[in-house]
Amino acid sequence: MNLHQFAETHEVTNQPPSLDGTNLYRIDLPLQEWARRFGAGWAESRIDAYGALAGGPLMEAGFLANQNKPVFTSHDRYGHRLDLVEFHPAYHELMRTAIEHGLTSLPWAHPQSGAHVARAAMTYLHSQAEAGSGCPLTMTFACVPALKLQPDLAEQWLPKVLATEYDPRNVGMAHKAGVTIGMAMTEKQGGTDVRANTTRAYPVGATGPGQAYELVGHKWFCSAPMCDAFLTLAQTEKGLTCFLLPRHRPDDSRNQFYIQRLKNKLGNCSNASSEVEFRGALAWMLGEEGRGVPTIIEMVAMTRFDCMVGSSSLMRQALTQASHHCAHRLVGGRVLSEQPLMQNVLADLALESEAALALSLRMGRALDNLGDPQEAMFSRLVTAVGKYWICKRAPAMINEAAECMGGAGYVEESILPRLYREAPVNSTWEGSGNVQCLDVLRALSKEPGVLDALFAELGDGHGDKRLAAHIANLKSAFRDTDDIQYRARQLTEDIALGLQAKLLLEAGNAVVSDAFIASRLEGAGRVYGTLPRGLDVAAIVARSTPTGF
Ligand SMILES: Cc1cc2nc3c(=O)[nH]c(=O)nc-3n(C[C@H](O)[C@H](O)[C@H](O)COP(=O)(O)OP(=O)(O)OC[C@H]3O[C@@H](n4cnc5c(N)ncnc54)[C@H](O)[C@@H]3O)c2cc1C
Repeated sequence: MNLHQFAETHEVTNQPPSLDGTNLYRIDLPLQEWARRFGAGWAESRIDAYGALAGGPLMEAGFLANQNKPVFTSHDRYGHRLDLVEFHPAYHELMRTAIEHGLTSLPWAHPQSGAHVARAAMTYLHSQAEAGSGCPLTMTFACVPALKLQPDLAEQWLPKVLATEYDPRNVGMAHKAGVTIGMAMTEKQGGTDVRANTTRAYPVGATGPGQAYELVGHKWFCSAPMCDAFLTLAQTEKGLTCFLLPRHRPDDSRNQFYIQRLKNKLGNCSNASSEVEFRGALAWMLGEEGRGVPTIIEMVAMTRFDCMVGSSSLMRQALTQASHHCAHRLVGGRVLSEQPLMQNVLADLALESEAALALSLRMGRALDNLGDPQEAMFSRLVTAVGKYWICKRAPAMINEAAECMGGAGYVEESILPRLYREAPVNSTWEGSGNVQCLDVLRALSKEPGVLDALFAELGDGHGDKRLAAHIANLKSAFRDTDDIQYRARQLTEDIALGLQAKLLLEAGNAVVSDAFIASRLEGAGRVYGTLPRGLDVAAIVARSTPTGF
């Protein structure tokens, strides 16, 4: 008797072909179109190369870096402080690859039209493979405008911030060709309320911008604590002030920067987030004394932009997995992506993903053109609008994408659980949802020209009556200032939807823009998969589905 016939329980069928090793740029038609549209066509071969890395080695590294969380050691065996966080080699591979490809530096080191868009496109690909490393990458990228406010410090630090070299060694910056930068604002008594910071700065000698101080206090959240320096806030005689605090002093001794413990987080597991204490830590004043918030906001504006890109990226990866799965999975003898109700869900998810990408890359184009006052005002407003709306949409969208895959979407190897756990953080850090909506009101009421810039951008509806009506409603909503804080979420949502509809209309793919406007401006159900009738959902689903399988 042949026993093998009993060992063979079944043949594996009805599973999609593997996506492993897929170039994430080549399967992403919307990304290709939007990146070209906003001026990054010249960088296509670079973005394409990053797409191959993101879908291949970085995707693999992403799993490893999240399975093997960073480990904190406070002291050595003899009781000396170490304050060391060690990462899995896969995390370092992610960091090294990104930095070497310009994800922290490209638009600053090589400013040209489309450079912010190109860098955002590569960041979009990187975060699909692994989002936790995005935290120190973003902060290093984002510190540049703030650092430039203090020319003496910028001269010393910027060449190393902008270098395409990653050096994770635990040594002083003098020994490194490239450095990474973090940010420490939040204290126990207030994150939104940074003005309540109690950390104090004491001058070592002379006072004022660029001078050395010693800081005493704590920070309740300090992510990526192995960065080489941190932008931080502390009180002086003149109020809250920004400082650059290195992890090592210039004589190579360790600075008085003590890690208390690592946070045990919902997601974002490859990235270490810590609580720290400063016990006389050396730091140099960055920018004007007493103007700490406006100084550090230069950095925060950039990290908020990256939250938009990051959440768009998580949604795209969820959509890629879901649309691929449904294109190959049969239920009841029919491919899922051809069944009407699933088409409704997938098309709705695809619309959400593309609209998020469009608004993110449109922001990238504004950053490429900040010399134009209209673009500067657009970026001031849309940083808050996009950060609110895109980050808010991501968790529910990713949950729905996971459900499209049934049980497979609930299992770690599918990446969906990691995407889902990762998504809420973009909405919370760098100013939570309400804070963004209040910032929208602040920008519109306090900064002359922003409201006009918004309506100039929205235009007259671009030939679409539904968009024209939406814009008219928005105008009257702003004329009514009663209860405006109470209504701030609704107003911000309506700005975001108007802008997304306008971008999609302008891009000229009528199938996509019509479905977006019909569902988002005319009203549909409250969950995904409630698109109205009469739309070409098959074409929308096809546009988002990886081809070549
Ligand atoms: C994983 C992770 C990493 C982080 N890393 C860093 C880091 O590296 N550096 C750093 O400085 N911080 C970091 N943070 C902190 C983060 O930026 C803060 O948690 C965030 O800004 C919110 O501050 P808070 O926690 O003090 O909440 P609070 O300020 O207490 O806010 C609580 C809630 O109230 C809302 N709210 C605030 N004001 C108003 C208002 N006027 N009206 C209505 N609602 C309001 C907020 O939107 C929020 O939802 C990190 C956080 C997380 C989760």
